[in-house]
This record gives sequence, C-alpha cells and structure tokens, in this order.
Amino acid sequence: MSDCWFAVEPIDADTYAISEPRHWEEPHSYLLCGQERALLIDTGLGVADMGEAVRRLTKLPVLAAVTHAHWDHIGGLSCFAHTAVHGAEAGWVSGQFPLPPQIVRANLTARPCRFPEGFFPEDYRVYSDGAGERLRDGEIIDLGGRQVQVLHTPGHSPGHCCFYEAARGFLFAGDLLYAGCLDAFYPTTDPRQFARSVERICHLPVTRILPGHYRMDLPPDFAARVNAAWQHLERQGLLRQGSGIFSFDGFQIHL
Ligand SMILES: [Zn+2]
Ligand SMILES: [Zn+2]
Repeated sequence: MSDCWFAVEPIDADTYAISEPRHWEEPHSYLLCGQERALLIDTGLGVADMGEAVRRLTKLPVLAAVTHAHWDHIGGLSCFAHTAVHGAEAGWVSGQFPLPPQIVRANLTARPCRFPEGFFPEDYRVYSDGAGERLRDGEIIDLGGRQVQVLHTPGHSPGHCCFYEAARGFLFAGDLLYAGCLDAFYPTTDPRQFARSVERICHLPVTRILPGHYRMDLPPDFAARVNAAWQHLERQGLLRQGSGIFSFDGFQIHL
C-alpha cells in the first residue's frame, strides 16, 4: 500500500519530505506548497502511487520537476499532468534512457526490499512519457508567495539541477550533495563539471540542505566539506572517470 511505502516528514508548515525508506537508495522527494500551486521536486522510484501521496498533503495544482532524469527520480512523473526536466535530459524521459532495463531492474533489486503489495520488479519500466516543461538555469518558479530558483548543476548528469529557496535558505540538492557515495564514474557523468557545480552552490546562504538520498539531517557546512573534497581530488589530478572511490568524513566520491 502506498501510504505505508512512503514516509512523510514535515520540513516546515508547508514543506514536506516524501521518502521511500524501505528501499536501499532511501530516495527523498520534496513537496513545496505555495498559495497558488505546489512544486514537487523529484518523484521517487515509481513503485508506489506518488500522486496519491501528494494529494493527501495538498489540493493545489502541482508542478512535478526533477533534479535530474535518473530512473529513481522520475519514477512518479506519470502521476502528474505538469512536469519539468532540464533540456539536456529531455530525451531520457522520452524513451532514450541511457541504461538498459535489465540494469535498472538489477539496481532496483540490488538489496532485499519489501516492495508495496501489487508491485513486481520484473514488470518495472523506466518512465518514458516525456516532460512538458524545460527547466532553465536561474529561472524562478513562483508558487504564489513562495519563490524557488532553478540552478543548473551538471556533473552527476548533464541536466542536473538544484532548487534553491533563498527566503528560507532551503537547498534541494538532488544527487549533488548527500551523505553517501557521490557518483561521477559512469559515461554520462562529468567529474570536472560536478566539482564546478558544488563550488557554485557551496557559497549560497543555506539553513538546510535537503538531499536526494539518505540522511536528511545534513549539517549546513556539508556543501563546503564536499567542495573541499572535490578541490582536494582536483589538486591530486584525479578528476577523471576511473580514478577510484575516495572516502571523506561522512561521504564518498566515486570517479
Ligand atoms: Zn542520480
Ligand atoms: Zn539519485
């Protein structure tokens, strides 16, 4: 049942994390409610009904925008009429996803998981019905009394975006910052761009970094620490795919 699959945690009075804690990836999507509409940042794995989970929290019209078009962030796009992705990954949500389905299913089932009743991993399909809108760097998404800025932060993927709400100091970081293994080792990643993107956002005034996976109580200096790690790797001449996995205090970088 989807209400058991998702865990909803209020961030403040009109912001929620909608998480999938039973899955090993521990994905987080975030619902931001304004006065006129709501923004859903990422849509999860797509193994339970994200649309229903959102409707329990708001009756506002919803724009579902993804930080990037990896399968574990676009799974719930099919539940929403208004959808947005950065143009660099528009093809990935329209049938040109860069991984074959069997690899995605292997990732989905990489560790034992009690999936929702009625969901069968062998039937899992990567979302492929497209997205109606394109996210652009610097764009402001106005929710009515609440504004969120799109920041194009490529590297983990070419169209990766963070979402920044300056008034509250919230940085929705997707897969750019989280307390796990930051991936920049496969062909569609770019380690140098990843480093530049972290450098760009680490100077933003933030009260809270809200990651795409794993623990949500990240310290506010987490971005600065990740930035220092990337700079360290750059100084060592290691910013290229195949360099290895490097461990730092509370996270890793896989190049
Ligand atoms: Zn990703
Ligand atoms: Zn992810």
